[in-house]
Amino acid sequence: MANDSAGLVGGFPRCAQCEKGVLVPLSDFGGQGAAVHFKAWVCTDPQCLFNLKIRNGDVYLNEPIYDGREDRR
Ligand SMILES: [Zn+2]
Repeated sequence: MANDSAGLVGGFPRCAQCEKGVLVPLSDFGGQGAAVHFKAWVCTDPQCLFNLKIRNGDVYLNEPIYDGREDRR
């Protein structure tokens, strides 16, 4: 994988927390199937999992990651 001097790996920004993984954008889908792009970014390193989410215009850093099975309260 190319690693240039701009700190991008494969076109994605390197994770500033672990400096091993890269941050990849996640898309979500609205109720009508319309994509909401770049709503969340997450580190690809399983030991790190640094994440950044944008919700209602606010930015949330390093929230716990839910796997979808856990009950939300
Ligand atoms: Zn990381």
